[in-house]
Amino acid sequence: MPDYEIILQEIMLTDKHNKNCVDCDSCNVEYASCNIGVFLCARCASVHRKMGTHISKVISLNQVWNQSQVERMREVGNKKAKLKYEYRVPPCYRRPNSSDPQVLIEQWIRAKYERGEFTQTGRPNYISGHLEGFLMKRGKEDARYQPRKFILSEATDTLRYFVKESKEPKAIIRISDLNAVLAPKKMEHENSMQLTFMKDGSSRHIYLYHDEGEVIVNWYMAIRCAKLHRLQVAYPMQSECNLTDCLSNDFAKEGWILKTGPRPSDGYKMRWFSLDDVQRKLMYQVEPLGAFPKGEIFLGYKLDGFSIRVGAPIGAKDQGFSFTLTTPERVYNMSVSNNVERDDWIDCIQKVFEKPLTPQDSSLSARLIRKRTTSTSLFLGK
Ligand SMILES: [Zn+2]
Repeated sequence: MPDYEIILQEIMLTDKHNKNCVDCDSCNVEYASCNIGVFLCARCASVHRKMGTHISKVISLNQVWNQSQVERMREVGNKKAKLKYEYRVPPCYRRPNSSDPQVLIEQWIRAKYERGEFTQTGRPNYISGHLEGFLMKRGKEDARYQPRKFILSEATDTLRYFVKESKEPKAIIRISDLNAVLAPKKMEHENSMQLTFMKDGSSRHIYLYHDEGEVIVNWYMAIRCAKLHRLQVAYPMQSECNLTDCLSNDFAKEGWILKTGPRPSDGYKMRWFSLDDVQRKLMYQVEPLGAFPKGEIFLGYKLDGFSIRVGAPIGAKDQGFSFTLTTPERVYNMSVSNNVERDDWIDCIQKVFEKPLTPQDSSLSARLIRKRTTSTSLFLGK
């Protein structure tokens, strides 16, 4: 009797496409779907199992295999399966990798194998340029989630939401100015999304979720799609690949930092910091799900007076894990709970200082500075 496990190993080793998970590209391949004929990591295998054996039959590579199962893996494999199941992935679609949030991975897998979203000729609703429906939105004052109607219109470059459908929209947001982050860890809801946009010269955050993962991912992709189409009109010479890189950006880092106020007598205050490394903004607020940052620090280029280093500013007391952020306007005295966190913040912020400014960055800087001169308290922060 042939040793099917050895044949299976050969199928994996002789084709480089079979060395990574077919769905998230993780290099830790431990499972396979023996009817679809693809290799999987443990995380994606668990999503395959959830879909049911009528869609995917998951087996461990360490189990005993039979001839027909091994033949199926040889016949299909990751490369052929991708050609079939990812045939029509829209350019705006964010293909997940192994470090992405669960909702993105799960909906990608369900879209591929359960809904056949990328094999059909029909267009998914999120690429039509118009989407409307209800999402649960966190209240700015009372922090309670309430259903709100949202309407996205690519034609008018707007995302509107309504408290009462019969009344005027509560907010009209320009899609081009909008950043969407899917399921940030702080939200503690698997199917959640944070939207950030500029309002009166300051960032404004809103927090949303939906009970169904498919709905929240559809909204996320719809925002990306509308942004892509508008960018394609604005920058017709740019390659699609360059444009899809800037449709949404996850925070490079978030967490609590102790910081002092602008005066030497100011005590330390705990603030929640979010680093947007693409927009070069370091925002801080009183609580993680705040509506407005208490302050926003524009992170410029290192040769223009921006720097960061280990230790407290000269003359200030070191809190143990202090670091000093210097901008042309102010020196920030910051501290975190351990050296790993401190080094990680310094590393992430230093990377932004290393990148020269683009014309868009300068325009954001000007908008932030304009705001600061009109409303000192908001932009210098407390
Ligand atoms: Zn995977």
